Amino acid sequence: MTQKFDVVVIGAGPGGYVAAIKAAQLGLKTACIEKYQDKEGKTALGGTCLNVGCIPSKALLDSSWKYYEAKDHFAIHGIEAKGVTIDVPAMIGRKANIVKNLTGGVATLFKANGVTLLEGHGKLLAGKQVEVTGSDGKTQIVEAENVILASGSKPIDIPPAPVDQDVIVDSTGALEFQSVPKKLGVIGAGVIGLELGSVWARLGAEVTVLEALDKFLPAADEQIAKEALKTFTKQGLKIRLGARVTGSEVKKKQVTVNFTDAEGEQSIVFDKLIVAVGRRPVTTDLLAADSGVDMDERGFIFVDDQCATSVPGVYAIGDVVRGAMLAHKASEEGIMVAERIAGHKAQMNYDLIPSVIYTHPEIAWVGKTEQQLKTEGVAVNVGTFPFAASGRAMAANDTGGLVKVIADATTDRVLGVHVIGPSAAELVQQGAIGMEFGTSAEDLGMMVFSHPTLSEALHEAALAVNGQAIHIANRKKR
Ligand code: FAD
Ligand code: AMP
Repeated sequence: MTQKFDVVVIGAGPGGYVAAIKAAQLGLKTACIEKYQDKEGKTALGGTCLNVGCIPSKALLDSSWKYYEAKDHFAIHGIEAKGVTIDVPAMIGRKANIVKNLTGGVATLFKANGVTLLEGHGKLLAGKQVEVTGSDGKTQIVEAENVILASGSKPIDIPPAPVDQDVIVDSTGALEFQSVPKKLGVIGAGVIGLELGSVWARLGAEVTVLEALDKFLPAADEQIAKEALKTFTKQGLKIRLGARVTGSEVKKKQVTVNFTDAEGEQSIVFDKLIVAVGRRPVTTDLLAADSGVDMDERGFIFVDDQCATSVPGVYAIGDVVRGAMLAHKASEEGIMVAERIAGHKAQMNYDLIPSVIYTHPEIAWVGKTEQQLKTEGVAVNVGTFPFAASGRAMAANDTGGLVKVIADATTDRVLGVHVIGPSAAELVQQGAIGMEFGTSAEDLGMMVFSHPTLSEALHEAALAVNGQAIHIANRKKR
């Protein structure tokens, strides 16, 4: 007999698994279909984020940072750490355990909330029927009142550098190196390229990042991007802007990468090459020809502001639809859709999705950049505070970077918070909370911040917006 559900979710990434749990919590009979299998051939939940994305990359970023600190930065504290070595397979093994723990945790949450897991490939047919094909090739059809498509994304391939997951790898391969490459190339100076490049640079690789654009981190505030480029370059990352990769050749476990830049045609030989040029939506065999679901011109599933597709009762969320390819954006869309299916009037604030680059120092922002606001003709006041003037940052020997608060010159409402520095992601979240409640810079300035904390840098930057910072000289108003 055909199983019937109120909600069937295709994909158990941070979009799909959160949507499924929320739907079940709201009393809806829910199933979630997932096809991803781990190295042991077992279904693993959590999608890109838990298996080969956010979590494993942060595990390696944290491990490699500890090594880098122990090796080169303990002496200043009076700590002698001689003969610090790195066991790469052990580091990779720790990462694998974290992934296993978390993906297993999602399976436990499914059980606890009564979500039915259907293992296999899901395909939406006409009339909100969904076909599930198991790894043994057997198929079953389930019926749904509502379907949520959450099939996520995968790395983009570029013909000049075909991935072989040996010498030329994508982000997944770069999380599995068993030794530190001597010379590492990275194509793409986006979030993923910078994070993975940083991991291996800290462990001793000589890293060159080739970026086709002339501008570094074009989505970030220019002041922050400039500071980031300076800092990463000082850390030893060779970032070559305006360098478009045109070809590559793998020979004897090395790869020669050809690229063009302002000086003409160039080539560099690397031991490993990471291709990190972006991600594309996964829609392969997801929709039957008569499913009725429309795609947009870039291959994403077309949805409105509430994630409804062109078919009533069918929704799509996360990386497979327009907008930032971020786990927290996917999850919040999942919550919104589950609530709307349950009859609530949920909305999501797309203007306040924080962005983070987990390098060291971290880079994070929420709201608009100074350049965006200028283009829109909005007059602003800007306050900045450098971590070099923060007692807490000094105590931690981590004084690089700054906090920047941008407020509307007329209303003083905070329109953007941008941070490069220690715990930038956590600080920006404080800005996001304030902005969600329509905070002014003055409101933030009037609040009591614990001393000594890194958060005081946000406090001071907010005060500086109106020339009232205490621990830094204020810019004189002309
Ligand atoms: P996914 O996580 O891609 O999950 C989709 C799931 O659907 C997959 O498990 C897939 O197997 C399954 N699936 C697809 N098609 C079918 C089908 N037909 N049937 C059954 N199952 C199917 N984001 C952040 O916010 N913070 C970070 O720090 C961060 N770091 C990242 C680091 C790396 C190296 C990478 C690659 C990504 C990172 N991201 C980060 C991005 C983040 O992983 C994605 O934005 C997020 O996973 C998107 O969630 P999703 O649920 O839309 O899709
Ligand atoms: P993101 O989309 O943020 O992950 O960043 C990917 C980056 O890769 C972008 O900044 C692109 O400009 C860059 N990129 C794409 N193709 C190439 C190429 N052939 N050579 C160098 N950089 C590239």
